[in-house]
Amino acid sequence: MSADADDRPLLHGREPASGRPLPPVPIAGADEVARVVARARAAQGAWAERPWRERERRLLAFRDHLLARADVIFDVLARESGKPRFEALMHEVFPIVDLAHFFATRAQAALADQPLPLHLLGALKRSVLRFEPRGVIGVIAPWNFPFTIPMGEVLMALAAGNAVVVKPSEHTPRVMLAAKELLDASGLDPDLVGVVPGDGRTGAALLDAGIDMMVFTGSVATGRKVAAACGERLIPCTAELGGKDPAIVLADADVERAARTIAYGAFANCGQICASVERVLVHESLYEALVARVVELARGLRSGDPTIDPHIDLGPMVVPAQRDLVQRHVDEAVAAGARVLCGGAPSPGPGNFYPPTVLVDVTPEMAIWRDETFGPCLPIRRFRGVDQAIAEANASEFGLSAYLFTRDHARAEALAGRLQAGTVMINDVLYTHALPEAPWGGVKRSGIGRVHGLQALRDLCEVKHIASPRVELRQPWLFPYSERRFRLMRRAIERTFGSLFARLL
Ligand code: NAD
Repeated sequence: MSADADDRPLLHGREPASGRPLPPVPIAGADEVARVVARARAAQGAWAERPWRERERRLLAFRDHLLARADVIFDVLARESGKPRFEALMHEVFPIVDLAHFFATRAQAALADQPLPLHLLGALKRSVLRFEPRGVIGVIAPWNFPFTIPMGEVLMALAAGNAVVVKPSEHTPRVMLAAKELLDASGLDPDLVGVVPGDGRTGAALLDAGIDMMVFTGSVATGRKVAAACGERLIPCTAELGGKDPAIVLADADVERAARTIAYGAFANCGQICASVERVLVHESLYEALVARVVELARGLRSGDPTIDPHIDLGPMVVPAQRDLVQRHVDEAVAAGARVLCGGAPSPGPGNFYPPTVLVDVTPEMAIWRDETFGPCLPIRRFRGVDQAIAEANASEFGLSAYLFTRDHARAEALAGRLQAGTVMINDVLYTHALPEAPWGGVKRSGIGRVHGLQALRDLCEVKHIASPRVELRQPWLFPYSERRFRLMRRAIERTFGSLFARLL
């Protein structure tokens, strides 16, 4: 921490499960953000010049440190986010261990020079695409996955040869500070990854500090502001935003599998997942059975403080204002005729708990069906025909993921083409965010661009086209122009594209 740390204003916070105060964290003001970005820029050049083997070694050293010191991360996540230890392992630490391994061992091949075969001029010219690091990548992160989301971006940015500066959520900055210690202990230049805690003002300062790309994850409202700021500065921006993901249970689905998977998709991380199941459409023939089973499963979930019992199923909600929004959605739905089958009111006692809640008799106009709730709430509607189900699923401003439950996988893959979503999962939920090779992102207001996958790794680079001659011929496009050369070239173009030869191109 810098010498002037004591003068900095502090971020205060409370454990969401118990209300106990958390250690305060100094806020990075605009000047400090600018200094951190400048130091990252200075460190980036040397990092990009390191041999691939060393890049790989450092990232694998981070993987090993994380494996060895995962308990530190679990403990911070339990205190700061109220995360059950199993979710801390499976949703936060394991995906990053795997992602570090995946990109450490594949970045060199993915970012190697790529020959670009030229369909017309290939006999005369040689083209190669080169992927060069952009420089300093800015990352702004939300509070629901405070480790896995920013760390995925950090490791991919590093694998591509960039430096990176992270602005964690003001609600959960401590886990990213713990992650920074692990990164530094892996032998990386400490300036290569900066962490700048603070609220939206620190995020805005990061956008102003001369970064070369922004990878943002958060709400639609903030995503708009961030994208506008990136537009103003003409820097690329990836925006991973909200969701209202539908699950469609077709008439031939396995009810037990669908119910268990949907209950997990709706209530894991206490429903605070961008890709949570937030709407269920069930074929009328399975409706009663599915609703009854989901309610039974919801009632059986155990909530609690993971610092006391690490293996409770559900922790608290992280942000009190989010719990208020959940209650508003439930109250409005009930006032408009919906029925609550379980849950429906904040849990009494200390902490920011909200019980798993299932609602029926919901209509598409209700906020709980239309807007992102981001809490442990599951509204369920029935449908008669599959066309109706697809139309209802698509009638949303969001399009992050969509889920289909059926025994007919081929039919589901065909139906996937009709669903407006970045990801369609069949008989499963959520897990693809943890696949480092799979692109993650949404359509419509769920975002712009993709994170994860080799294409996103290349997006963290500038692509340079290197064009060279195979043979040194006179180029017919140079000065001076004349009527004769115009006619000659025109005839050559007409003959090429106006003949059967064009089929070979
Ligand atoms: P948020 O938009 O309130 O905040 C996100 C981040 O932006 C925070 O770090 C915040 O401090 C920062 N910020 C706020 N104002 C800013 C500004 N003017 N300039 C720059 N940065 C600013 O979102 P949240 O409440 O932290 O997260 C919940 C949202 O994130 C939900 O909508 C959820 O669906 C979404 N989310 C999406 C994905 C995805 O992959 N699509 C993943 C996780 C969460």
